[in-house]
Amino acid sequence: MTVSTTVTVRVPAKVNLQLAVGPRREDGFHALVNVFHAVSLFDEVTVKEAPPRQDFGLATLTASGGTRVDLAGVPLDATNLAARAAALLAEETGKGSPVEIHLDKRIPVAGGMAGGSADAAAALVACDRLWGCGLPQTDLMDLAARLGSDVPFPLMGGTAVGTGRGEILEPLVAPGRYRWVFALSSRGLSTARVFGEYDRLRPDAPAPRPSPAMEEALASGDAASLGAALTNDLERAALSLRPDLARVLAAGREAGALGALVSGSGPTCAFLVGDEDSPKAGGIEAEVVRALEAAGADSCVPAGSGDVLGATVV
Ligand code: ATP
Repeated sequence: MTVSTTVTVRVPAKVNLQLAVGPRREDGFHALVNVFHAVSLFDEVTVKEAPPRQDFGLATLTASGGTRVDLAGVPLDATNLAARAAALLAEETGKGSPVEIHLDKRIPVAGGMAGGSADAAAALVACDRLWGCGLPQTDLMDLAARLGSDVPFPLMGGTAVGTGRGEILEPLVAPGRYRWVFALSSRGLSTARVFGEYDRLRPDAPAPRPSPAMEEALASGDAASLGAALTNDLERAALSLRPDLARVLAAGREAGALGALVSGSGPTCAFLVGDEDSPKAGGIEAEVVRALEAAGADSCVPAGSGDVLGATVV
């Protein structure tokens, strides 16, 4: 295997097509059925060999981002999920050496699109290559699950259902390719707060179940069926904390979106506008963007999905 001194990994954001949330478990996590779907909105994580410096530990971090990304919420210390991923890999393999990690972020921060988890997955892949560890994908997936429930999926990409606390992944048959518009919000929403609000609103939440309608819609590749099957149990809690998002969701639906939902714990809202190859999707996309901007969305980002790879060395 070639060992390089700099490695860059591109990693996608996710939208949850179905998020069914059960009651809080004894370990503090919630039982989930979580259909993850990778979308073509990417962060790039670059790791570079650094000279040993006693005062900085294993990793030093820098970050850059597009105009829509608020970098103020990204910690540049050992608590960053990318730094934690590097530290875990070093500990497990004994092969770690000091690295500079640069995060080029396009995934909104605290936006419900798992940007931090994506960076952690990318850092695992990048450091594995930089340090010449050569871990098999299954071992990287195990380390990812130890870092967080949302970290394994961005290693995999495509479409998958997560059970347990969301970290036990099974790929789903999903041959369709779709177009989306994401309405981003300049203020993030804390995932922990949204789960707390969910517990308050649903103290009697039943055990989460897979949705046959979702699995059939994905297998058929039909955008209208997929739009009708989108569900997110956290949506009510997110709207309770951010009532302004209800107007954004309604505006996108009225403008012709085939389906709309809060992405994960929000505040990003996702609008399915059609099949990737459908000539109609372009028109719906333009209408939806106009309506979302008029309804007060801070910015709108189009993205594709259906054939989006997980964390990949570029
Ligand atoms: P999820 O969809 O998994 O709930 P999210 O997309 O809502 O996550 P993230 O962008 O992953 O949220 O960030 C959540 C918090 O994690 C941030 O507010 C920040 O404090 C912390 N964090 C740690 N590492 C990172 C990172 N690499 N990028 C962004 N945030 C990070």
